[in-house]
Amino acid sequence: MSIEGLLSGYRRFRRTRFLAAHKLFRDLEARGQSPQIMFIACCDSRVDPATIFDTSPGEVFVLRNVANLVPPNSPIARHQATGAALEFAVLHLNVSHIVVMGHAHCGGAAALLEGYHNQIPNAEFIGTWMNIAMTARDRMMRLPLPPQERLLHMEYQIVRLSLENLLTYPWIGERVEDGRIALHGMHFGIADGHLSMFDPVTGQFQTVLTDGTAVDV
Ligand SMILES: [Zn+2]
Repeated sequence: MSIEGLLSGYRRFRRTRFLAAHKLFRDLEARGQSPQIMFIACCDSRVDPATIFDTSPGEVFVLRNVANLVPPNSPIARHQATGAALEFAVLHLNVSHIVVMGHAHCGGAAALLEGYHNQIPNAEFIGTWMNIAMTARDRMMRLPLPPQERLLHMEYQIVRLSLENLLTYPWIGERVEDGRIALHGMHFGIADGHLSMFDPVTGQFQTVLTDGTAVDV
């Protein structure tokens, strides 16, 4: 897509969706936002939560980073975008849910799996960032999996690790403990459109059933 394509998309949006929802946008500006759900998703251009979950403006507070990673709480971390977004969502917006969503064919997960996340020429940041998920890789490698299933399970393990790391922030941990916040893990299949959800009881991801009218692909 070119910048011209982007701007014609903007004009189309102004003519259609913005026009249809202009009262909503006006109210959102006047009242401010009060989303109940925070999403942590991958930067990947194929997995926009607002598209997948068909949400309206103001409904989801979305943080996207490489491989939907939550770094563990650390007093030495500076300029921490993920921590800042979490603080704002939890301490200011008082969200009730935090969803970590992984996805199929995640480039970050694949790089970590193959070990080339530290070898991208001239890259200064991505290796250190993906090293956050080394524990997830170690856990996946201990599973008796055929090679073709490793990437999917790497993606699952990253979601599990991010959910664990959320609890290292004390103001999240205490809200999970007393029920003010619920944590959720998800995984989106891209090509087949399948969504699966982490079940904390079984520790596995379960397919979210559609209403039966969905096209099976
Ligand atoms: Zn990704």
